[in-house]
Formats: sequence, C-alpha cells, structure tokens
Amino acid sequence: TLSLCDDTQIDGNALVARVLAFSGVRHMFGVVGIPVTSLATRAVALGIRFIAFHNEQSAGYAASAYGYLTSQPGVFLTVSGPGCIHGIAGLANGTANAWPVVMISGSCDQRDFGKGDFQELDQIAAVKPFVKFSAKVTEILQIPRAVLEVLSRAVEGRPGGCYLDLPTDVLHQKIYEVDAARVLAEAEYPLVRGISSQVSSWDIEKAVTLLRKAERPLIVFGKGAAYARAENSLKKLIETTGIPFLPTPMGKGLVPDTHELAATAARSLAIGRCDVVLVVGARLNWLLHFGEPPKWSADVKFILVDVSKEEIELRKPHLGLVGDAANVLDLINKEIKDNPFCLGKSNPWVEAISKKVKENVVKMDAQLSKVVVPFNFFTPMRIIRDAILAEGSPAPILVSEGANTMDVGRAVLVQNEPRTRLDAGTWGTMGVGLGYCIAAAVASPGRLVVAVEGDSGFGFSAMEVETLVRYQLPVIVIVFNNGGVYGGDRRNPDEITGPHKDDPAPTSFVPGAAYHSLMEAFGGKGYIAETPEELKSVLSESFSARKPAVINVIIDPYAGAESGRMQHKN
Ligand code: ADP
Repeated sequence: TLSLCDDTQIDGNALVARVLAFSGVRHMFGVVGIPVTSLATRAVALGIRFIAFHNEQSAGYAASAYGYLTSQPGVFLTVSGPGCIHGIAGLANGTANAWPVVMISGSCDQRDFGKGDFQELDQIAAVKPFVKFSAKVTEILQIPRAVLEVLSRAVEGRPGGCYLDLPTDVLHQKIYEVDAARVLAEAEYPLVRGISSQVSSWDIEKAVTLLRKAERPLIVFGKGAAYARAENSLKKLIETTGIPFLPTPMGKGLVPDTHELAATAARSLAIGRCDVVLVVGARLNWLLHFGEPPKWSADVKFILVDVSKEEIELRKPHLGLVGDAANVLDLINKEIKDNPFCLGKSNPWVEAISKKVKENVVKMDAQLSKVVVPFNFFTPMRIIRDAILAEGSPAPILVSEGANTMDVGRAVLVQNEPRTRLDAGTWGTMGVGLGYCIAAAVASPGRLVVAVEGDSGFGFSAMEVETLVRYQLPVIVIVFNNGGVYGGDRRNPDEITGPHKDDPAPTSFVPGAAYHSLMEAFGGKGYIAETPEELKSVLSESFSARKPAVINVIIDPYAGAESGRMQHKN
C-alpha cells in the first residue's frame, strides 16, 4: 500500500551508492570490510562495476589511472583506519600525477572516537597533505552534497585527489525515501572540468609571434595534454609549423613516436639548443630538469600552457597561458591559420635534429640487432616492441615500471597512439603496475594491456594477478626477472662484514623466482621465457588468447646499471 511505500527507509551506505550512480560513476575500485561492505553491494546493484582488490594501495593506483584514461573521477573505496592508510598511497600518487581520483573511506563511530574505537583514526587529518579537498559527513542528510562535491573537485582546475569520510554511525543512519529523494534533488553541485580559459587574444598573438620568430623552436608536451585529449590540436600545430616536438614519458603517443618531427632520439640536442619552447601540460620538474641550465640553455624562452595558474606562477616562464591544453592550442592554431609559417625540412634546426635522430636510431638499432642470451634488457625488449606493434590499432596500452626495465622500455617501445603509456610517473612510484593494468583493462574494454615490469616493481602488488584472473581481464604481465632490485647482489665481497654478512643483499630476491607459477596458482596462464624463440612464441600465444597471463622473462642478473639512469641519486 501507499503508506508502506512511504515508510521505506534507506541507510547511509545505500544513499552513498545511489548518489554515485546518479552522478554517472560507472566503476569503483576498492577493498570491502567494516563498515563499507554494503556500500559496495548497493553500488553493484545500481549498475556500478566494483573491482575488488587485495590491497587498497593498488585500488588507489587503479582509480587514479582510470581517472587519467577516462577524464572522469576515478573512485575507490576503503575500510577505516588501516584501509584508509593503505589507500593514501594511491591517493597521493594520483595527486602527484595531477589525475582525478576520489578515495571514499569508512571511519569509526563518531560517538566512540577518542576512546580507542575499532580502526580509529583522524582520517581527515591523515589525508590532508595529499588531497585538494576533503569532506566528512556527520549526518546522513549531508551525503548527497558531499559525494557530488568530492567528485566535482577532483576534476576541477588541476585534477587531483579528493577524499570523503563516512563515519560508521552515518552509514547506518536511516532516512525515509522521500527525504532521500529531496536531499538528492537539492544537492546539485555542478561538475566543471578543468577551467574556462583565461588567455587573452593578446597572449595568443604573443605566443605565436615568439614561435614565428624563433630560430630553434620546440614543442614539449606531457600527460596533462594527454589528459586534455589535445592530440589532434597538437598534431595540427606541429604539422602546420614544422616545429620539432618532444613528449615526456607519458606524453608519448599523443603524436606518433615515429613522426618525422619527433625529437625524442635527439633529446639532449633539442632541449640544450632550443631558443623558444612551447610546453603543453607538462611541469618543468625533475623530469624536464627544472627547465634550467646546464640541460637547457640559460636564455631559452618558455611558453607554458597549463590548467593551473599556480604552476605557471611557480615556474615564472617568459609567457604563461592558463587554460585547457586543447583549448589554448586551438586558439594558437586559429591565430596561425591567418598568417601561416612553416620551418620546412631544410631549415637548419630541423635538419640538425633530424640528423641527430637518424644517428641515434642507427646506434640503437645496432644495439637491438645483437641477440644476447642469457637476456640483457634490450634483446627481449625488442621482441616485445615488435609483438606490440604487430597488434596494430587500437594499440595495446603499455604499463611500465622498474629501473632498467622502465628506462630501456621507454627508449625501445614505440607509442603511436595517445594515452597508451602508464609508468612510474611524477613520483617515480614503484608498485603501480598491476593497479594501472586493471584500470586500463576496465576503462577500455576489449583492449589488450601489456605490462613490462621489473621483478621488484611487480612484487609490490603481485597478488593482484588474482584480480586479473577473477575478472578475466586481457592483461599480459611480462616480468623482467633479474633476481632483485637492480639485479640482485652486486656487492664487492670485501665490503660485506659484520654479524649479518651471510644474509642476502638488501637488493636481492630469491634467484630464479617462479613468478609464472604465482599466476598459475589462480588458474591464469604462466609462461617462462629464456630465449628469443620462447619469448616470441609465448607473446604470440598470450596476445591472441587475451587472457590474464604472466610471462617470467629470465634476465642476466649482471645486465643493466644500478638505479637505471638515476645512478647519481643513489
Ligand atoms: P609530465 O609528467 O608528462 O611531464 P606533469 O604531470 O608534470 O606531466 O604535468 C602535467 C601538467 O598538466 C600539470 O601541471 C597539470 O596542471 C596540467 N594539466 C592538467 N590538465 C590539464 C589540461 N586540461 N590542460 C592543460 N594542462 C593541464
């Protein structure tokens, strides 16, 4: 009867799930437990796909990468206290990468806070350094607005992490359906992505004049441009002006690596000699040597395009354009259209870069054509490169982490499509791989995901291979197994003294670890590859099967350098 219907109540868990579904959340990552299990089951009942992880850290990495790949806030759920603490790794890494991610955590009962309640923690204080915005609901009626606000803030301005705290008592509090419907209707919070452009036509003219007058112009772009989906605008600018370009590691693929204006193989020359640089969606941080000498020339003029005004104020470029990358590039393209200019192939700068690229490509090819067994890093990487290229379009999404594995992979693997590379990122975070794989597979159904991981990077979250099997995701994890961090025990025996001298080195793992068996334990496919023939054959079999697989590639422990190319910091 009508009165029965009117009496229906819903609790906080159900209301959160309803608001998430209402605001268009399609996927959630996380680990369930007290007090949020019913939030997850409610969300599933409303059509949200919940990907359940083993560790909140990986779930957080996944949610952030999902945010990057889809431009929607990536949402993940954790339990209280320790669950929230594990999740902070993912939340913080997302903020560091400027990716939109929302962590939702249960927390202890408000009445028992301070008395040593189960999993008690001041979670708002704990997340503070790592988020753009956080909210704690103290009462069920606050839920709709708080959920909408965290989702919205994550994608507003510079994307980043946001946090929502849900105390147990609020999750158990009940309200009548009519009241739930009313607060939901009242809670509107507009979802505004990025910012509206703040650039004037005068600034656009200035930028174009700088590029036009430059003798040695360069265009650098990063994962902010990828997030902005600026690939078409970038390609147009590069091709109409003939200006060489340099992607950052995750910018790779926005314009194909194989493009004739790609300066990647002449990176030192390009950044060392350019006089005007248009930097789009990339920070002048350590990855770009802070934009300072000696890597860059002292009088280089930077034109920065970034959604974040603070970023531009921090770097003090010659010219700053605050706005969305695609938007600003379109304005620049429009300005150029009326009075076009193009460097042309015989321009001395373009020629110098192209000559250097050719020289370095020849050197790299010489290195790649040597077949080294036991494997160094190059021989298997070349085979993997060819297998990925043979997949054609849509290109597989590549996930990469490790020291040498990631460095060599960045140089050898070819990215020809946007947002096809996920790696250790701004923080150089190891352990992101499996979470990123799961996010990529979930965000782009049907697309092949290939991870090329060092064994130590893999180890951080190796248990998530079970998650791959459980959801039957088309992810092939290739582990470069060299027996430890940088390649196991590399100590000089004379320097090993003291009572624990017989312990394994801090850098070493069990030699010959059977990582492929770990996958088999869950019913996935495990392979071991020690020779080029074996590797080619297992890549071909696993790529066409498109089922979860781990390929254990045995690498010579003495191949590769300690700390990869970061030796000077270790
Ligand atoms: P990379 O690691 O590729 O160099 P960074 O993460 O350092 O890239 O820089 C990305 C930059 O892009 C950040 O400063 C961020 O504020 C900016 N950004 C994010 N979204 C947009 C957008 N839509 N338009 C322009 N810039 C953006």
